[in-house]
Amino acid sequence: MTRETPINELKGVGIKRAELYKKLGIFTVGDLINHFPRRYIDFTQTVPVSEAPIGEHTVIKALVIKKNPAARIRQGLVLYKIFVQDDNGERVTIVFYNNRFAADALQEGEEYYFSGKITGNFTRKEMNTPTVLKTTETDLLRPVYPLTEGLSAAMVITNVSEVLKSADDSFFADMLPDSIRQEFSLSTYEYALRSIHFPKDEYAVQIARKRLAFDELLKLQLGMMMIKSRTRTANSCKMSRETVIMDEFFSSLPFELTGAQKRAVSEIIGDMCGETPMNRLIQGDVGSGKTAVAAAAAYFAAKNGFQTALMAPTEILASQHYKTLSEMLGALGIEVCLITGSMTKKQRAAAAERLEAGICHVAVGTHALISETTEFDKLGLVITDEQHRFGVNQRAALAVKGNDPHKLVMSATPIPRTLALIIYGDLDISILNELPKGRLKVETFAVTAKLRMRALGFVKKQLDEGRQGYIVCPMIEEGDQELAAAKKYAESLKNTVLAPYRTGLLHGKMSAAEKDKVMSAFKDHELDLLVATTVVEVGVDVPNATVIVIENADRFGLSQLHQLRGRVGRGQYQSYCVLIAENFTDESRQRLEVMAKTSDGFEISEYDLKMRGAGDFFGSRQHGLPDLKIADIAADRELLADCSRAAKELLEKSPDLAEYPLLRSETEELFSRNNNAAEAL
Ligand code: ADP
Ligand code: MG
Repeated sequence: MTRETPINELKGVGIKRAELYKKLGIFTVGDLINHFPRRYIDFTQTVPVSEAPIGEHTVIKALVIKKNPAARIRQGLVLYKIFVQDDNGERVTIVFYNNRFAADALQEGEEYYFSGKITGNFTRKEMNTPTVLKTTETDLLRPVYPLTEGLSAAMVITNVSEVLKSADDSFFADMLPDSIRQEFSLSTYEYALRSIHFPKDEYAVQIARKRLAFDELLKLQLGMMMIKSRTRTANSCKMSRETVIMDEFFSSLPFELTGAQKRAVSEIIGDMCGETPMNRLIQGDVGSGKTAVAAAAAYFAAKNGFQTALMAPTEILASQHYKTLSEMLGALGIEVCLITGSMTKKQRAAAAERLEAGICHVAVGTHALISETTEFDKLGLVITDEQHRFGVNQRAALAVKGNDPHKLVMSATPIPRTLALIIYGDLDISILNELPKGRLKVETFAVTAKLRMRALGFVKKQLDEGRQGYIVCPMIEEGDQELAAAKKYAESLKNTVLAPYRTGLLHGKMSAAEKDKVMSAFKDHELDLLVATTVVEVGVDVPNATVIVIENADRFGLSQLHQLRGRVGRGQYQSYCVLIAENFTDESRQRLEVMAKTSDGFEISEYDLKMRGAGDFFGSRQHGLPDLKIADIAADRELLADCSRAAKELLEKSPDLAEYPLLRSETEELFSRNNNAAEAL
């Protein structure tokens, strides 16, 4: 038996059970052994029935005193009731549905452990479908696996034990050299694997978890570092400072760049003039002025005769960037064009022609920009905005366009540096940690719905002073109902003090052209108020807007709220953000108070990450990293630092991991599991 052995060939697994395993993504014996328990039931921690909290998971130890005969309640539903009693004579009714096997296994007069949720009340307690263990059992820490209907915990336990019993040494081959294991105090792989499934005690779980999480994070780091070194080919778009007077660009701006912006620009120019292509991330808080940095980079490239492609995640953002860049660069004689999916074929063809001919130097667009039909004459720089929506594999895809162009990515989701180093491990990082001078902190208040009318009154006051505002309407679960709900909400404002103001509606169901129309009307102050769904989240820039009201604020992640709040406070006026929650729970109050207290995106993301964990923070797969089974890049930050050191040591000894074939193949496997980044390896 090897790891590649199909799961149906494992003793005790037939075709039918193999089908169930497939639902869990388990096809081979190796997959099964990597199906780690979610938690463990500790059968040593028994509770007297009288003290067992209702509605919570508990373990009781009790004697079977009576079994009711099977009762057919209705078609297809058979009920088994077993009455048990603990040492103090307290009774519980154990209930199984359709599980004769479980019911029959319990003998009258015998004592067992029962693990499950106690329901009922103080006089009549029940435990439904508990996990049962004989009191003669010695392994009292039992794994709880993710399961699927028809596949019981007992089945998985039996199958995993079978693998661990019959596996030979090659099965447990350790991918880590001893030196690394010693340096970082790690158990052997075999110990870790055996203990993660069937631990002797809690301590063994910890040791096993540490080792397995280390392996996973190490592979992640190795993969990213290898991508980074492989993509460091020769610089085929080499640029030079000599031909360019950057001051011409700087002095044409209506403002002076911040120190952080200047630093980023000079790092970018340094990269583009260097020996290898640029691969750089600009991480900047909302409003830190990333667009001007992008424009500077495009200017420098154009003056060197290279074209720039700037990709944005939405049409609104693409057209906004198009406008901004046209304003900044057009006057300096650099042509900018827009290419989006919603343009007519004819419009796109016209733009594409000028790009292909090399007349137009900067193309701004959505994903349409990397479609095969867009040809560049001499593409030298690719900029992607709002990077967290593009994965590492998409970054790799971009690299093939053109002649290995320089890459600059701009992220508006500040994340702690340690994490950025992982997620963007293939990139160098510049941080814009300075807001333009004179920016005022956005005053933020969190209120319950009871104060909604007062909040709207506050908006009115701002509008009366000639300012503009946003209202982010309540979140709706169903995409299809978004339109109706947004309309209804906008309609409801007609019964408020905001009725007289020019109000626009922006939602995800509008066509790009419609969105654009509303957005430009708002930008040109033909509208006072914009009622929007979260489509305004990213990047939209209207300096005259000074107030944003966010409904259902308690349902958003803090980083997302921070993004939304970043829509205001972009000009010289004091701005305000009102967060409305239907009700406060202790947790939501605490979270929203973080928003009120701080305006530092890095601090907010740190808090958000801690509260929600990495999975929720980044959203499903948004970061484009391989899925991790056991490690959590947010919670395992210390381990991550260790892995980073280990990865460097290993690559120093063997740059392509040739000396560690198992480590290499496992790394490749991690990266190929759910994206194509492996191609870059
Ligand atoms: P973000 O980093 O959120 O993408 P933008 O690039 O949209 O920020 O810039 C936000 C606003 O700040 C824009 O209106 C822009 O013109 C302005 N801005 C950018 N840099 C500066 C600066 N150095 N001084 C003053 N205003 C600036
Ligand atoms: Mg932006």
